[in-house]
Amino acid sequence: MSFSFDSQLTPKNTDSEPIETNIIILGGGPAGYTAAIYAARAELAPVVLSGPSDGGQAALTDKIENYPGFPEGVNGYELVANFRQQAEQFGAQINGDMALSVAVLPDGRFHVKGYSGEYIAKALIIATGATHKLLDVPGEKELTGRGVSYCGTCDGWFFKNKDIVVVGGGDSALEEGLFLTRFARSVNIIHRRDTLRASRILQKRAFENEKIRFTWNTVVTEIVGDEKVTAIKTKNLLTGEKGELPIDGVFIFIGHTPNTQFLKGIVEMDELGYLLVDRHMQTSVPGIFAAGEAADPLYRQVITSAGMGAAAAMQAVHYLSKE
Ligand code: NAP
Repeated sequence: MSFSFDSQLTPKNTDSEPIETNIIILGGGPAGYTAAIYAARAELAPVVLSGPSDGGQAALTDKIENYPGFPEGVNGYELVANFRQQAEQFGAQINGDMALSVAVLPDGRFHVKGYSGEYIAKALIIATGATHKLLDVPGEKELTGRGVSYCGTCDGWFFKNKDIVVVGGGDSALEEGLFLTRFARSVNIIHRRDTLRASRILQKRAFENEKIRFTWNTVVTEIVGDEKVTAIKTKNLLTGEKGELPIDGVFIFIGHTPNTQFLKGIVEMDELGYLLVDRHMQTSVPGIFAAGEAADPLYRQVITSAGMGAAAAMQAVHYLSKE
């Protein structure tokens, strides 16, 4: 099935009818907004459903130092806000709605059911990103927002002169741990191995920081507290030794899960939920493209997500232009 696209089309919205347009982009992070810039400049009248957290994970990053063009680094929120503004400037319609399901209509178009509206388009770009993983230990859910956090930039301020632990050994754990030293009295990074996954530059900074210490080969088995976090229970994986550590806060950075569950049975994905795409960002369904962390278990950088978004939009233009 192929379509020609209508460059004069204005996204339609009435109370009773779905919004109809050429292309819908699901996700308002670096991949989604970059796709929107390219699709809008191609006069595809894109509609972006920016989802529950506008800006995605990048917007929660205090300082991004490896996005080219910003030698001094750039605040993640500002960077993605600029992406969004650029997309809007070219005519993308940004909608705060979140996609709940996607169906292929008999005429080959796609029907997207959102939380607050319905949409029909000839092509889709899935750029729904990923969400932080849970430790899945007792006390975690109950104490989230009361000492358990997944975002240093959002919650660091509440831990002025407090003692906190950071769980994880990747770039996020070290970057956030370093950021949290601005507020906390001490930051104990608890990692399940004795080798970090994080980049050398972050490792060097963390090892040199006087407020940071590491607890190796150790996992958190329980987070303790009534009204707020008061302690964690730990287990050393080499010795089996169990411990309890009084603490004010627990920041968890142990990776992400792609936000693709709503596409199960529609678009092929791997066992972890990452959408399978070919080198043209094409998914298993012709006309549905994917970009960013929803389809990228490997690189997961702002720059690579933005690049995938650009490529997905260019391929969508090609798809819609085919006779
Ligand atoms: P990640 O690289 O997947 O690291 C997750 C860490 O959590 C690993 O050290 C892992 O341990 C640990 N872990 C996983 N499950 C765990 C569990 N159940 N209990 C305890 N520990 C657990 O995730 P990330 O740090 O969020 O980074 C994601 C991607 O974003 C990466 O590609 C990273 O390079 C990128 N990123 C880049 C920057 C930057 O460039 N400045 C900043 C942030 C993120 P193991 O090591 O034993 O597996």
